[in-house]
Amino acid sequence: MDNYIERLQERGINITAVRLLIFKEMMNFSHAFCLADLETTLDTVDKSTLFRTITLFHEKRLIHSIDDGSGSIKYSVCSRYCDCSVEQQHTHFYCEKCKTTFCLDNASIPEVNIPQNFILHSANFVLKGLCSHCSKIAT
Ligand SMILES: [Zn+2]
Ligand SMILES: [Zn+2]
Repeated sequence: MDNYIERLQERGINITAVRLLIFKEMMNFSHAFCLADLETTLDTVDKSTLFRTITLFHEKRLIHSIDDGSGSIKYSVCSRYCDCSVEQQHTHFYCEKCKTTFCLDNASIPEVNIPQNFILHSANFVLKGLCSHCSKIAT
Protein backbone atom coordinates (compact mmCIF):
# COMPACT_ATOMS: atom_id res chain seq x y z
CA MET A 1 0.00 0.00 0.00
CA ASP A 2 2.94 2.34 0.74
CA ASN A 3 3.93 2.33 -2.88
CA TYR A 4 0.43 3.43 -3.90
CA ILE A 5 0.45 6.24 -1.34
CA GLU A 6 3.82 7.39 -2.64
CA ARG A 7 2.61 7.38 -6.25
CA LEU A 8 -0.36 9.59 -5.35
CA GLN A 9 1.74 11.95 -3.25
CA GLU A 10 4.30 12.34 -6.02
CA ARG A 11 1.54 13.74 -8.19
CA GLY A 12 0.33 16.09 -5.48
CA ILE A 13 -2.87 14.17 -4.78
CA ASN A 14 -4.18 14.17 -1.21
CA ILE A 15 -4.65 10.67 0.13
CA THR A 16 -8.13 9.45 0.95
CA ALA A 17 -9.30 5.87 1.42
CA VAL A 18 -11.49 5.96 -1.67
CA ARG A 19 -8.75 7.43 -3.88
CA LEU A 20 -6.38 4.69 -2.79
CA LEU A 21 -8.99 2.06 -3.49
CA ILE A 22 -9.64 3.43 -6.98
CA PHE A 23 -5.94 3.76 -7.79
CA LYS A 24 -5.28 0.19 -6.64
CA GLU A 25 -8.06 -1.03 -8.90
CA MET A 26 -6.62 0.94 -11.84
CA MET A 27 -3.24 -0.72 -11.29
CA ASN A 28 -4.88 -4.13 -11.63
CA PHE A 29 -5.83 -3.59 -15.25
CA SER A 30 -3.37 -4.99 -17.76
CA HIS A 31 -4.95 -2.87 -20.48
CA ALA A 32 -6.62 0.53 -20.74
CA PHE A 33 -9.94 0.91 -18.91
CA CYS A 34 -12.95 3.17 -19.26
CA LEU A 35 -15.29 4.62 -16.64
CA ALA A 36 -17.74 1.76 -17.15
CA ASP A 37 -15.00 -0.82 -16.44
CA LEU A 38 -14.30 0.84 -13.11
CA GLU A 39 -17.99 1.05 -12.30
CA THR A 40 -18.18 -2.72 -12.73
CA THR A 41 -15.17 -3.60 -10.60
CA LEU A 42 -15.83 -0.90 -7.99
CA ASP A 43 -19.57 -1.23 -7.59
CA THR A 44 -19.41 -0.02 -3.97
CA VAL A 45 -18.08 3.40 -4.99
CA ASP A 46 -20.69 5.87 -6.19
CA LYS A 47 -20.45 6.99 -9.78
CA SER A 48 -19.93 10.69 -9.17
CA THR A 49 -17.00 9.95 -6.84
CA LEU A 50 -15.50 7.70 -9.47
CA PHE A 51 -15.93 10.33 -12.14
CA ARG A 52 -14.44 13.10 -10.00
CA THR A 53 -11.50 10.90 -9.01
CA ILE A 54 -10.72 10.00 -12.62
CA THR A 55 -10.85 13.70 -13.53
CA LEU A 56 -8.48 14.56 -10.68
CA PHE A 57 -6.05 11.74 -11.49
CA HIS A 58 -6.07 12.83 -15.12
CA GLU A 59 -5.42 16.48 -14.26
CA LYS A 60 -2.53 15.45 -12.01
CA ARG A 61 -1.15 13.20 -14.75
CA LEU A 62 -1.34 10.06 -12.71
CA ILE A 63 -3.29 8.56 -15.60
CA HIS A 64 -3.47 9.42 -19.29
CA SER A 65 -6.46 9.29 -21.57
CA ILE A 66 -6.72 7.57 -24.94
CA ASP A 67 -9.27 8.28 -27.63
CA ASP A 68 -9.30 4.97 -29.49
CA GLY A 69 -12.27 5.86 -31.64
CA SER A 70 -14.54 3.41 -29.81
CA GLY A 71 -16.67 6.26 -28.49
CA SER A 72 -15.64 5.90 -24.86
CA ILE A 73 -12.50 7.51 -23.54
CA LYS A 74 -10.03 4.99 -22.13
CA TYR A 75 -7.52 5.63 -19.38
CA SER A 76 -4.31 4.02 -18.26
CA VAL A 77 -1.96 4.66 -15.36
CA CYS A 78 1.11 6.63 -16.44
CA SER A 79 4.54 5.21 -15.86
CA ARG A 80 6.10 6.67 -12.78
CA TYR A 81 8.12 9.50 -14.28
CA CYS A 82 5.92 10.21 -17.28
CA ASP A 83 5.00 13.87 -17.71
CA CYS A 84 2.67 13.24 -20.65
CA SER A 85 4.74 15.42 -22.98
CA VAL A 86 4.62 14.44 -26.65
CA GLU A 87 8.17 13.03 -26.37
CA GLN A 88 7.06 10.78 -23.52
CA GLN A 89 3.79 9.64 -25.04
CA HIS A 90 3.52 6.16 -26.48
CA THR A 91 1.55 4.42 -29.16
CA HIS A 92 -1.71 2.62 -28.34
CA PHE A 93 -3.16 -0.46 -29.96
CA TYR A 94 -6.87 -1.05 -30.30
CA CYS A 95 -8.04 -4.62 -30.92
CA GLU A 96 -11.02 -4.51 -33.26
CA LYS A 97 -12.20 -7.91 -32.11
CA CYS A 98 -12.16 -7.81 -28.29
CA LYS A 99 -12.38 -3.97 -28.24
CA THR A 100 -9.45 -3.76 -25.86
CA THR A 101 -6.92 -0.93 -25.94
CA PHE A 102 -3.33 -1.57 -24.94
CA CYS A 103 -0.49 0.81 -24.07
CA LEU A 104 2.59 0.07 -26.15
CA ASP A 105 4.89 1.62 -23.60
CA ASN A 106 8.02 0.86 -25.59
CA ALA A 107 6.71 2.26 -28.87
CA SER A 108 7.13 6.00 -28.86
CA ILE A 109 5.11 8.14 -31.22
CA PRO A 110 6.87 8.64 -34.55
CA GLU A 111 8.11 12.12 -35.22
CA VAL A 112 5.81 13.91 -37.64
CA ASN A 113 6.78 16.97 -39.66
CA ILE A 114 4.21 19.64 -38.96
CA PRO A 115 3.86 22.88 -40.91
CA GLN A 116 5.83 25.93 -39.90
CA ASN A 117 4.37 27.91 -36.99
CA PHE A 118 2.13 25.05 -35.91
CA ILE A 119 2.68 24.16 -32.26
CA LEU A 120 2.22 20.60 -31.13
CA HIS A 121 0.71 20.01 -27.68
CA SER A 122 -0.29 16.38 -27.71
CA ALA A 123 -0.71 13.41 -29.97
CA ASN A 124 -3.13 10.53 -30.09
CA PHE A 125 -1.57 7.72 -32.01
CA VAL A 126 -3.73 4.60 -32.17
CA LEU A 127 -2.99 1.49 -34.20
CA LYS A 128 -5.84 -0.89 -34.94
CA GLY A 129 -5.91 -4.60 -35.58
CA LEU A 130 -5.94 -7.81 -33.59
CA CYS A 131 -4.26 -8.40 -30.24
CA SER A 132 -2.14 -11.51 -29.66
CA HIS A 133 -5.07 -13.36 -28.14
CA CYS A 134 -7.53 -12.57 -30.96
CA SER A 135 -5.00 -13.14 -33.74
CA LYS A 136 -4.59 -16.73 -32.52
CA ILE A 137 -8.31 -17.35 -32.71
CA ALA A 138 -8.50 -15.79 -36.17
CA THR A 139 -5.99 -18.15 -37.74
ZN1 LIG B 1 -8.28 -8.82 -28.94
ZN1 LIG C 1 -0.94 4.45 -22.69
